Amino acid sequence: METISFTPGRAFAQSLDSSDELREFRSKFVISDPDLIYMDGNSLGRQPAEAVDRVSEIVGQEWGEAIIRSWGQTWFDAPLRIGDKLGGLLGAAPGQVVISDSTSVNLFKMVMAALDLRPGRTKIVTDDLNFPSDLYILQGCIRLLGGKHILQVVPSPDRIAPDLEALIAAIDQDTALVTLSHVVFKSGYMYEVDAITERAHAVGALVLWDLSHSAGSVPVRLDEWNADLAVGCTYKYINGGPGAPSFLYVRRSLQDSALSPIWGWFGDKSPFTFALDYAPDPGSRRFLGGTPPVLSTLAIEPGIDLLLAARMDRLRRKSVALTSYMIYLYDSTLAQLGFELGSPREAERRGSHISIRHPEGYRVNRALIDEMHVLPDFREPDNIRLGLAPLYTTFEEVYEAVDRMRRVVAEQLYLKYPPGRQSVT
Ligand SMILES: *Cc1c(COP(=O)(O)O)cnc(C)c1O
Repeated sequence: METISFTPGRAFAQSLDSSDELREFRSKFVISDPDLIYMDGNSLGRQPAEAVDRVSEIVGQEWGEAIIRSWGQTWFDAPLRIGDKLGGLLGAAPGQVVISDSTSVNLFKMVMAALDLRPGRTKIVTDDLNFPSDLYILQGCIRLLGGKHILQVVPSPDRIAPDLEALIAAIDQDTALVTLSHVVFKSGYMYEVDAITERAHAVGALVLWDLSHSAGSVPVRLDEWNADLAVGCTYKYINGGPGAPSFLYVRRSLQDSALSPIWGWFGDKSPFTFALDYAPDPGSRRFLGGTPPVLSTLAIEPGIDLLLAARMDRLRRKSVALTSYMIYLYDSTLAQLGFELGSPREAERRGSHISIRHPEGYRVNRALIDEMHVLPDFREPDNIRLGLAPLYTTFEEVYEAVDRMRRVVAEQLYLKYPPGRQSVT
């Protein structure tokens, strides 16, 4: 990957913005307060302007005027049609990606399907960099299946990157499933997919990737990776809206044999026959349960269209430049103020968010939000997490965010905030 050389000062950030090949995409988003430095696009992406128009059209015409006729026109096929379109961004050929449910629920469906495909095997391998909800779902699946499985959570030595050797060694002949977050939610570490997949497949285990922090931010090539199963959010870098339904991927060659644990009529091969016995759809539609949330499913599409137009290679190039620039600024201004980098330095091993740690991280984050007009988020115990969404984050915003972090600590502005946590961070 090319290395970029940076120089200090705001004018340099501005020059990076004026030569940014994706700069026109910022204007495709609703930005009601241009002075707000929004650094949380990895948690809830900004609103595409097109989504506002699209939703009002759906509400006014498709729901208001066409009423139930819209099911046959644009609604019934939406989870598969939009899934295929999203597949274009994830390196998945049509017929494998479906929009449905939340990421947690889709993970449940994928895990139950995977364990059912590997009877007799008793081990699930993951690591402690994974998102807690993913671990909870795994624990719940094990309980539901009678406690026959064990969950091996491989510890990360530094909480930034995994212990790859230990992870690979944990994958053995007893392993039914290996499941990891491809880009981890705290540090932004990104796995090298091949080594894990090769090992898992060599011993006959299945691989399930959680792409919540990857989809729309880093190149994903599900078919090329030989991935078996995947899930991920659409409200993060896909910009699909709060609580937008997530996606799942089932490799085509598994679709005959993989079964959803939830046998609903939308997953039946012929929902409108109303037969009394379930017969799963031969393809990926079998992983739908009941009636999908139509409004929020359709609202995802404008965000996907923007990413496809921007192209993943250009998004990745800008994302690497943004995160590298932030690390450069961290090195030159924050490192001497008690901050520590909580993300990998090698661009190849990094997604599109950066964690910067500080012993007073929680209060620093509050000061950034309450008086600095910067909006990152905080992840325990000390991570200030900054999402740099290549579609709309500017280099000048990165410059400003780091400078305001510097001020919060250099001027001790955080001292006036209580250390007690608020309920949503
Ligand atoms: C954000 C995120 C989730 C969220 O799951 P929901 O069911 O949408 O709440 C799950 N897994 C990972 C890895 C995430 O980053």
